[in-house]
Amino acid sequence: MLQKNLELQQQEECYYREGLTQKEFYQYQVNRDGFKGEAEVYQLLLKYGNANWIYLHDVWINTGGTTQLDLVVLTGSGVYIIDAKNYATEYVHQNQQAFANGKLLSKSIFIQLERSMEKVNLLFNNLRYSGEIQGKIVFVNPEGLIRLDEPASEVGMNRAEFIHWIKGIARDEQNLPLANILPIALKERILNEFQIENPYPPVPKSMKEINQMKRGIKCAKCHSFDITLTMYKVICNQCGHHEVKKKSVVRTLCEYGLIRYREPLTVSECEVFLDGQVSKKYIARTLSKYFGKMNSGRYAAYANKNSSFDYAFENVEFPFKNSKAK
Ligand SMILES: [Zn+2]
Repeated sequence: MLQKNLELQQQEECYYREGLTQKEFYQYQVNRDGFKGEAEVYQLLLKYGNANWIYLHDVWINTGGTTQLDLVVLTGSGVYIIDAKNYATEYVHQNQQAFANGKLLSKSIFIQLERSMEKVNLLFNNLRYSGEIQGKIVFVNPEGLIRLDEPASEVGMNRAEFIHWIKGIARDEQNLPLANILPIALKERILNEFQIENPYPPVPKSMKEINQMKRGIKCAKCHSFDITLTMYKVICNQCGHHEVKKKSVVRTLCEYGLIRYREPLTVSECEVFLDGQVSKKYIARTLSKYFGKMNSGRYAAYANKNSSFDYAFENVEFPFKNSKAK
């Protein structure tokens, strides 16, 4: 499963809590649709590619200049940089100009990829990598009407062309000589020697902004705030979903952490955010047990997971029996 980037995780949370301005809402939609496209491309690679392929998703690299790579496919014989586009509209690239639904676009995704590939090539030169290196743009949305002239058509592919291309790479891998660095080692070296932190991390929302958002626990499934809290459970009045209360509280505290990105969590702030649905004591115990105390005493603060619940507690079980804070 591909992981949503932090910006999208935070935007999603603010969206459900009605805390996005119109401009932010537009940005959220762009990111959300972009992620859907990447996830789709990834599924196609898993389906049609070889099992030994290794993937990198959403990595920032620095090779003297920085660039972000959506999806990197490492095979035994080559490296493929894939930029997924989820356009559901008409997209035309003609005489070095791009048009979306007939409107001229100011930025070219092909020039963007070219610049990114310059940095990618530097990276692999640096590693003295012997395999082939290609950059591709994939228009993955089946509703997109894509028309590309030369030379864009050498780099851009629609969904059907992409599937065909993956099959070709998979077949060729059996016949081509292996590159001098194998996929697992290559991944390690890229991450260890060239990866940098995302230079555009989410901005913590201010208390003023948070005060205008919806508070409390929402349904994990349908995101409705119309819930009933019992001693041990959270029951959604809209879709009927049941969740262990401890899990709901930990999840909601993760949501608050994303909104407050990188700021430590305090009991009193979390109490306000949880809208009085659980006691201060319950929050303090939950924070201490699942998030970890950073300092004690009057100004006690707890670690912010800086991640949505699904990723931060992916492998943690919340058994019903032990759900009550002790
Ligand atoms: Zn629900």
